[in-house]
Amino acid sequence: MPARKQKVVIVGAGIAGSLIAAGLKDRGDVELICLERVGTADHAEAGTGLNIGPNALKALDLHLPESAALIRANSLPWESWRISLTNGRTLMDLKLGSLAENSGIRIRWAELYSLLRTAVSPHVRYNAELVGCGRDESGPYVDWKDTITGAVERIGGIDLLIAGDGRYSLIRQFVLGEEEKPFFLGVCLYRVLFPAGPDCPLDDYAQWFNGANRLLAFRVPGDLIYCAGSFPIPAESGIPDEMKQREFLGRVYLPEEGEPSPEAAYLIDAIQRYADRIHWARLQDGSVAYGRERGILLVGDSAHPMVPTLGQGATQACEDACVVVDEIKAALDAGRPLADISERVEARRAERVRFVVQFSRDATDTMLAGADPVAGTLRKTEPEFQAKLKSLYCDVPLPAGAAA
Ligand SMILES: Cc1cc2nc3c(=O)[nH]c(=O)nc-3n(C[C@H](O)[C@H](O)[C@H](O)COP(=O)(O)OP(=O)(O)OC[C@H]3O[C@@H](n4cnc5c(N)ncnc54)[C@H](O)[C@@H]3O)c2cc1C
Repeated sequence: MPARKQKVVIVGAGIAGSLIAAGLKDRGDVELICLERVGTADHAEAGTGLNIGPNALKALDLHLPESAALIRANSLPWESWRISLTNGRTLMDLKLGSLAENSGIRIRWAELYSLLRTAVSPHVRYNAELVGCGRDESGPYVDWKDTITGAVERIGGIDLLIAGDGRYSLIRQFVLGEEEKPFFLGVCLYRVLFPAGPDCPLDDYAQWFNGANRLLAFRVPGDLIYCAGSFPIPAESGIPDEMKQREFLGRVYLPEEGEPSPEAAYLIDAIQRYADRIHWARLQDGSVAYGRERGILLVGDSAHPMVPTLGQGATQACEDACVVVDEIKAALDAGRPLADISERVEARRAERVRFVVQFSRDATDTMLAGADPVAGTLRKTEPEFQAKLKSLYCDVPLPAGAAA
């Protein structure tokens, strides 16, 4: 047994970071510190919804059942995935239960953060922004700034530093250096959350295409609709200003022939009405890396930036958290040092996550410039795609030692 408590520092109380903290919070044999840049009342992601895949819930049921129950109790089930054209022609109507063992969920991003953070609050230092990290003779260290006072402090002698600091992770930059640029797919993805209203025709997860231009929407708790719209843009440019205008948004989903379906018409009206609330982004992904540095572990988006086409970013962050907690508990129980957890997690996670990153990129085919959504969606109803989806939804990491 190590003579002192081992020190685990988690940077970022996002999805992966909060779940890992939840899995470790009751251990008396570890010193747990979680640094989170925002304050308790931050609403930066107020305008976003998430669909989280059945695989996240299956993994959480197995590894972190209290977190699974908390998330289910505060969300709506995700049970179907319908794809149509904006003129109303249905191309795919998939019941997730035909491939998965359980449902996924639909939730507001802000609600999910709040639930997960509240459960681990005593371990989280809010308004604590990581501003630097490195390694000295006593192991990894972090420099963090109190965003209220401006004071900077160092935490050194860390046994395991966990980077849960998301897509623009400082720790990922330290670990990978300047070697990597994100890969842009040439697609603008914007998102907006708005009140459903009395005549809303929408409920579970669905998509509507007009050429490669796509609307995606579903209902989330609070009688709100989350809409993520997209259209192709030049891969190397930002989003042209003229494409952010109401007139463009009103035009780009109108079918060339016929009227928009009631659902498409509802969304086209809503995105114009709520255009000033839209968050704009571009689809991008990057390479998979968990554990290239001893004692430093990347998780969630910092380990595997991916496109959200299959709703797998947060979903894989949940799977990561399950494996990380499993590995840390096993090491603590055996009195092993935590410095090699990063290699162990890499060994258990990298192959599956490479599959998910690639599958998510491939499934984006119908959103690229010049795509044919009819042929591309029909391919998604064929056995090859459905077998991959089944593997995605079912082949979750099992607790170490469990029979496969
Ligand atoms: C438009 C869009 C739609 C998406 N839709 C889905 C979806 O439907 N389903 C799905 O599964 N995924 C979706 N995702 C992806 C998903 O949101 C992310 O994959 C997920 O949030 C990653 O979790 P994480 O824990 O790695 O990081 P995050 O949840 O991003 O958390 C990172 C945390 O680190 C904190 N932080 C960052 N930098 C610092 C710092 N320097 N110091 C201290 N703290 C810091 C942040 O404040 C935050 O709390 C979507 C993403 C986008 C952009």
